[in-house]
Order: sequence, then C-alpha cells, then structure tokens
Amino acid sequence: MSTFSLDPGPDQIAVRDWLHGFAADVIRPAAAEWDEREETPWPVIQEAAKIGIYSLDFYAQQYFDPSGVGIPIAMEELFWGDAGIGLSIVGTTLAAVAVLANGTEEQIGTWAPQMFGTPDDVKVAAFCSSEPDAGSDVSALRTRAVYDEAKDEWVLNGTKTWATNGGIASVHVVVATVDPALGARGQASFVVPPGTPGLSQGQKFKKHGIRASHTAEVVLDGVRVPGHCLLGGKEKLDERLARARERAAGGASAGSKGKNAAMATFEASRPAVGAQAIGIARAAYEVALDYARTRVQFGRPIIDNQGVAFQLADMKTRIDAARLLVWRASWMAANNQPFTSAEGSMSKLYAGETAKYVTAQAMQILGGNGFTREYPVERMHRDSAIYTIFEGTSEIQRLVIARAISGMPIR
Ligand SMILES: Cc1cc2nc3c(=O)[nH]c(=O)nc-3n(C[C@H](O)[C@H](O)[C@H](O)COP(=O)(O)OP(=O)(O)OC[C@H]3O[C@@H](n4cnc5c(N)ncnc54)[C@H](O)[C@@H]3O)c2cc1C
Repeated sequence: MSTFSLDPGPDQIAVRDWLHGFAADVIRPAAAEWDEREETPWPVIQEAAKIGIYSLDFYAQQYFDPSGVGIPIAMEELFWGDAGIGLSIVGTTLAAVAVLANGTEEQIGTWAPQMFGTPDDVKVAAFCSSEPDAGSDVSALRTRAVYDEAKDEWVLNGTKTWATNGGIASVHVVVATVDPALGARGQASFVVPPGTPGLSQGQKFKKHGIRASHTAEVVLDGVRVPGHCLLGGKEKLDERLARARERAAGGASAGSKGKNAAMATFEASRPAVGAQAIGIARAAYEVALDYARTRVQFGRPIIDNQGVAFQLADMKTRIDAARLLVWRASWMAANNQPFTSAEGSMSKLYAGETAKYVTAQAMQILGGNGFTREYPVERMHRDSAIYTIFEGTSEIQRLVIARAISGMPIR
C-alpha cells in the first residue's frame, strides 16, 4: 500500500508555478471585464489553448500525475485567477470525463479531440444531465432516448437545464432515460455531434456569479444520432438493462453494483470541484490580508486589531484544512483507496462552504471597498456561492457522507 504523502514533487510544483503565471498575467487582469460582459471569454480560452492549458493532453497528464494531486493543483491555480474564466476553461472537461468514463476507446478517440478543437479554432463541450424537474434527484430525468432499429439511430427528446456551455458547445453529451421504470439504472449517455438538427439553446441564464461561464437550457426536439453515439455501445447497455430488470423483478434494489460504481466516480471527481473553491477562497484571503496590513484606522493598520487578525487566522486555517481534505481525497482516488466515509464528498462540502465563508469575511475586512466592484472580493464572493450548489449541493454531500458513515438509507 502506498504511503500517504502531500509532497507534489518538483514536476508538479513546476506545473503549479507555470499555471500561476498564466492565472496572474492573463486570467486575473481579464476577470472583471468578462464578469461584466457575461460572455464566454473566447480569447482567453484561445490563449490557454495556445500554451497547452486547454487540451485533453494537459488534463490527462495532470490526472495521471503520480503525486495524485495534479488536478486539484491545476484547478486551484486557474480559479485563483478567476472562477468564471476558470470554469470557461475547464467546463469542457465535464463532458470529456463522461466520454472517458463511459465510452469505448474508439468513441474517446473520435469525440474527445472534437470537444477541445485546435488552438486556432477552439471549441467547448457541454455535459447535459440536469433538467427542470431533476436536479439533485438525477433518477427523475424525463429526457427520452428511443432506439430506431431500422435506421440504427437514437431519437432524443426533452429539455435539459443549467448546462455549462449548453448550446454553444461543439459536442454535447446528453444523459437520457431509455427505460424510465428502472430510474437511474435505465439511463444512458449519448454524444450529440456538432451541428445535429433538433438541438437548440433555450434560455441563457443571467447569474449571480461565475458570469463569464455560459449556462443555458438545451432543447432536444427529435434529435437523431447514429447508433455509435451511445456511449459504451448498445450491447453493453442491453446487458446492463437486463441485469437491472432481473434485479428489479427479484425485488433487489435495481443495479446496486452499478450505483456503487457511479458513486465512486462522483467521489473521485468532487475533490477537483473543491479545489476550484479553494482557489477562490485563497484569492480573496490574499486580497484581505494585503488590505488589512495597509488600511489605517485609529492611527494603526487594521490588522493590529485582534478582531481583524483573528478573522484572517481563521480564514487561512479553513483554507488549509479544505486543501488537506481535497488532496487526501484526490490521493485516495489516484491510489484506488475505497471512499468508506465519502471522503470525496467531504472535501467538496468543506471546500465549498469555506469559499463562501472566506469571501464573506474578506468583504467585511475591506469595509465599504469590499462592497464595490473596484475591488475583486465582491466578485469572488458572488462566484463562491455556486460551490455549495452545483456538482451536488452541500445538503446532498451531507446526505452521501451520512449514508456512508452510518450504512443507513438516510433521507
Ligand atoms: C451555474 C450552474 C452550472 C451548472 N452546470 C451544470 C452542467 O454543466 N451540467 C448539468 O447537468 N448540471 C449543471 N448544473 C446543475 C446543478 O448540478 C444543479 O443545480 C444541482 O444539482 C442542484 O439541483 P437543483 O438546482 O434542481 O436544486 P434542487 O435539487 O431542487 O434542490 C433545491 C434545494 O433542496 C435541497 N435538497 C434537495 N434534495 C434534498 C434532500 N434529499 N435532502 C436535503 N436537501 C435536499 C438542495 O440541497 C437545495 O438546497 C449547473 C447549475 C448551475 C447553477
């Protein structure tokens, strides 16, 4: 068994410093503009693509880094620069991970490169699971996928919501139900290739934070995709459905093995989202620390007051604690350790709550300035709020942890 270590090693430190340079020189200076414009920052994504940060290769390298913490380190640095731009740069990976996790080698080879495009012609991808009536309850999806055997095509109908890059993506990955009676076990994922008729963008949401990241509804109206767009292939789906039906008929919970595999995937991906939240928290903490050192009231810097200094001490402590949880969970995933206490969910829960807490404290330390758009902490506070909502709300993380530690079907 490998020994738990928090030393990322020299290669990873070099990557971190390189990413930090990009975040400081390119992302941070552009943050306020794209937040106000509420548009996808294509020129910044292109810059990232030119130097290799926006590519499948880059994320694969970080994922397979032997330290186990390549992905959280990358996420923290990019989101330290800005969360809205950060999500515009890494949003494609949501769809890419779905293809990597469920697709055949041929599907990965075909679709993953199309999701990113090329540095001269960058593309983004979207992962469409959530629906108006299926958010936390992913088993309630209504989007239907029906097989047209004569044409070897799947026909998709339904409305997806909250899709990051939805409608502006080249490739959309859509989760749909093939057999509604089987709940989550009756679902499958489909690639919708660029330019497929019937897929359109619905409303684009005007958001509280991460405003540079595009979030929209995706409408699927008689979308026909070739049979080979079913991730994993029809044979595998048929086998999975047959097993689920057998279990359901036998009274067992339908496909608990499959459910466990899905949970393990979530546990492994949640630390990456936690790391994004830590990036925001660290950025706000640094601004607040600088401000507290230089802002003079009552003839002395405000940090001279324990009331302010202790706030900063708590902020730093929580950020470091959150990072330890994130790195532990990420290391566990890389080393195939079982998440017996839902350690991935723990890390996302704590990091998300920390980002909200730290950014609120930072605004307080900056006083009136913290409340204005002249300083970045107001934006960081708005951006942090999504981290207790998406990729599983804080309540859902607690539910997962509570079930893992108790072994009870807590509701
Ligand atoms: C900016 C943004 C980007 C997103 N990007 C994507 C994306 O790319 N792809 C995608 O598929 N989805 C995406 N989402 C959707 C996101 O994952 C959902 O918003 C999230 O899962 C919550 O679902 P909901 O909004 O329907 O809230 P609901 O599930 O309706 O929850 C409402 C409230 O009830 C609570 N609640 C619900 N069930 C329980 C329970 N059993 N116990 C206790 N409390 C409970 C929740 O915690 C929450 O506080 C995005 C969302 C946003 C806002």
